Parts: sequence; C-alpha cells; structure tokens
Amino acid sequence: MKLAIASGKGGTGKSMVAANLAFTLSTTDKVTLVDCDVEEPNLHLFFPAPAMMTEVTVPVPVVDETTCQHCGKCGEFCQYGALTVLSKRVLFFPELCHSCGGCMLVCPNDAIHEEPKRIGTLSISMPQPGLKLISGTLDTGSPHAVPVIRAAKKLAAQDPVVILDTAPGTSCPVVEALDGCDACILVTESTPFGLHDLQLAVDVVARLGIPAGIVINRSDGKDAETLRFCTDHDLEVMMTIPFSCEIAAIQSRGDLLCRERPEWQKDFCALYAKCRALAGVDE
Ligand code: SF4
Ligand code: SF4
Repeated sequence: MKLAIASGKGGTGKSMVAANLAFTLSTTDKVTLVDCDVEEPNLHLFFPAPAMMTEVTVPVPVVDETTCQHCGKCGEFCQYGALTVLSKRVLFFPELCHSCGGCMLVCPNDAIHEEPKRIGTLSISMPQPGLKLISGTLDTGSPHAVPVIRAAKKLAAQDPVVILDTAPGTSCPVVEALDGCDACILVTESTPFGLHDLQLAVDVVARLGIPAGIVINRSDGKDAETLRFCTDHDLEVMMTIPFSCEIAAIQSRGDLLCRERPEWQKDFCALYAKCRALAGVDE
C-alpha cells in the first residue's frame, strides 16, 4: 500500500497528518514514512534519531575540448539550453541540464562523457520499532527536486506500507511523489484559499487516476463550502480535525498528537482503513 499525503497549499497540516498516521500504524505494523518535500523536509523533527546518510547524484555531461570539433550538434540537440557551442569552446550550464544523456549520444566525435554531480542527500533512520523514516533533502541552489524524490521512493519500493508526504502545491515534485501511489489523502482547511488550492490538487490526482479522500484540518465547524465541494466531486471527507489550541501547542513543541494523546490513534487507524478501502486493498 502506497499512500500519499498531499495538499494544494502549504500550511494545511499535511506533514502532521502523515507523521501521526505513520506513528499510529507503526505501533502494530512495519511502516515506511518518506519525506518527499525535499526542499523543506521536516518529518525528522517529529522523529529525531541517528540517521544514515547517502548522496543523490545525477549524471551530467563533460566535454573533452581536445576531442571536440565544435560542430554544434550537442547544443542544437539540447532542448534545455544547457549547452552553448562557441567557435573554440563549449559552455555548459549545469543548472539547466536535465541529465537526459542525449548530447553524449549525438556527439559524432565521442567528445562527451558523463560524471556524477551531487544534487542532494537521503537520510534513513529507525526512530522507533516498526517505523523507517526516509528523508530526501535537495542541496541549496539545486533545481532538481524530482531525482531526489525518485531516489527516496526507490529506497522504499519493496516496503509493504509506505506513506509519502509530498511537497505542497501541484508542481512536478508533487506529481513525481504521487506517481504510482494507490491512494491519496488531500489535507485542506476550510478557507477560501484552502478551497481554491484543494480544487487544483483534486484535478491533479484525478488526472493521475489516483483515488483521493479529504482530511479537513483546523476545522472551526464552518466547513459548509468545503463539504459542498466534496459532495459535488464525489470525495469522501475521511476525517475532520478541529481547530484546537492544545493540538497547536503539541505541534509547536515538535510532539505528535497521537503520542501525546493516544486516544487519537483510533481516529488515525480509522483514517487508514478508509484509505485502504479507497485504494481497493482488502483488509
Ligand atoms: S557534439 Fe561533440 S564535437 Fe560537436 S560540439 Fe558537441 S561536444 Fe563538440
Ligand atoms: S544531458 Fe540532456 S539536458 Fe543535459 S546538456 Fe546534455 S542534452 Fe542537455
């Protein structure tokens, strides 16, 4: 079961839902929690533990100027503008390169080879029995979030229960994290901005063919607009978490609701059961 936790906008409590769900399930099962919000990973704050680190690299082209005939074919081929061929040298702009390898293939003089370039890291920890945490972190200034997310997901590929905390929004890194998931929880809040961005997120998961349900967070009881939207789009509201100073205080301390208030665990177990039903996974 691969379950994504996503949201149309930041600050809805997506990571809180992911962390509490993973914590609750890990008390009875083996769970892998993957932090795919690689530009701003924060799940490790809920689960401090020693971690094993590995680097994520991508192959980038290196031109051998002694072999290069400056024919211009590589520059013509690169659709990303990462190569500019001048009369006596080739300029390479690594931040524009998508590591497609095409320039190496089209070079008639075998003047291009690839070398690995670091773009981020993965950390793997076991913060408690039953729970594995994989966090991807994009290096500062690197524009390539997708390969880091892909590498983080690959580490969890064989694990039976995987919860993926995506980046907020609906950009490429979110699509990469959602790809291949069995179901998705969309976390929202009942505000005009929340509803607007929820619409975008619903559209993305629908286009990817991923069944989705809704969690309304920080509800002040005035959820009529959101509920109407969910009814209109045949989306189940699987859980409503009330606005609460106590919950906010627990989170601001970096604690987990389900650890501090174990009575909440049954709600998160029920949420997971609904996700399995959504995904068509037999209990
Ligand atoms: S295709 Fe090869 S030979 Fe031509 S400019 Fe590029 S690196 Fe040089
Ligand atoms: S690997 Fe692909 S994206 Fe990068 S420079 Fe070569 S052709 Fe352009």
